[in-house]
Amino acid sequence: MTGNNRQPEVNIGLVGHVDHGKTTLVQALSGEWTDQHSEEMKRGISIRLGYADATFRRCPGMDEPECYTVDEECDNGEQSERVRTVSFVDAPGHETLMATMLSGASMMDGAVLIIAANEPVPQAQTAEHLMALDIIGIENIVIAQNKVDLVDGQRARDNYEEIQEFVAGTVAEDAPVVPISAQQEVNMDLLMQAIEEAIPTPERDPDADARMQVARSFDINRPGTTFENLMGGVLGGSLVEGRLEKGDDLELRPGRRIEEGGQAEYHEIRTSVRSLQAGGNIVDEVGPGGLLGVGTGLDPSLTKGDALAGQVAGPPGSLPPTWDSFTMEVELLDRLVGGEDIEEISTGEPLMLTVGTSTTVGAVTSARDDEAEVNLKRPVCAEEGAKIAINRRVGTRWRLIGVGTLTG
Ligand code: GDP
Ligand code: MG
Repeated sequence: MTGNNRQPEVNIGLVGHVDHGKTTLVQALSGEWTDQHSEEMKRGISIRLGYADATFRRCPGMDEPECYTVDEECDNGEQSERVRTVSFVDAPGHETLMATMLSGASMMDGAVLIIAANEPVPQAQTAEHLMALDIIGIENIVIAQNKVDLVDGQRARDNYEEIQEFVAGTVAEDAPVVPISAQQEVNMDLLMQAIEEAIPTPERDPDADARMQVARSFDINRPGTTFENLMGGVLGGSLVEGRLEKGDDLELRPGRRIEEGGQAEYHEIRTSVRSLQAGGNIVDEVGPGGLLGVGTGLDPSLTKGDALAGQVAGPPGSLPPTWDSFTMEVELLDRLVGGEDIEEISTGEPLMLTVGTSTTVGAVTSARDDEAEVNLKRPVCAEEGAKIAINRRVGTRWRLIGVGTLTG
């Protein structure tokens, strides 16, 4: 293990087709295995979200890229210096729903697209994930050409050409392509150098109101805990802006569903920050980057089982509006990954919409040329202008068909 005792300052998504080596790469860079299961709820936050922190270090007196390492001790015997701590968001491998990747994408500052050198390019999820990065506007991308240990030099070069052809005209057009073997830990220094150059830590407004995307929520109490010992509900997610401190007041939107006289409505929830966990440590204050655990004063039955996943948290009165229905400008993809044409959106059809970390089904109440009105099954909290990933059921699964912009 390396010294991972700093809060990460940037979130980097690991995307790409199943089995191309996402989890192996996270492990190589962080010494953690994101697929592992643990009975400990606290660790469970990061494992189930697929988060792992890695501290990139530099060996003094060595040239680039050889100077990059994740070890504290350098090959030349010197102590390495910390460059920065990054947080990897590892998209779950066997996820057939794009929703998980898409809601993870709302927290990504950049992405590493992993493409295995021993398979034709692109595989289905390689294409779909790249399209999602494009749609959500994640422009800082590094391509890791993985498993180069399994191919000969000629195949590696051909595969490189296939990758270049595939990304031409996309958001990843100018992304560096770094040949690696995650399993054999080959070229990890080159990859780190590319990440340092292509995925800088975003400039953050230090005075912005805290804005947390809640991706998970839970009850950390063991069954049978007595009332005096009961811990408040816990939120897991990432701060996209601002800072949170212990003791801060917090509002959550859309909040909780309340039924009154046969009518269901959502009311925002108010609570306060009782404890904070970031970078594996209990802290008094946190800023953007990495995964955050927030202990609140909420009744744990409210946070149990991800009940508050998809919500937005921040100082009371500062959050964007809650929408039960909205109009969005729609831009459809030309065709599905796999080549089938995409038909226009029609009135009455159900769509799966991802807004921030929230995923909800929307019934189309009106569809015009490049606009659709939807009635949401569950409301979302979002700014006007927010990007919406639009999925349609095709056969047995939801497929990404386009991007929407919330217009009101
Ligand atoms: P994921 O689904 O993208 O997370 O892929 P995994 O990291 O789980 O890797 C899938 C399989 O490929 C595992 O058996 C890994 O050991 C193997 N693998 C990953 N990277 C490499 C590599 O660079 N070389 C070789 N030979 N195998 C690899
Ligand atoms: Mg995996």
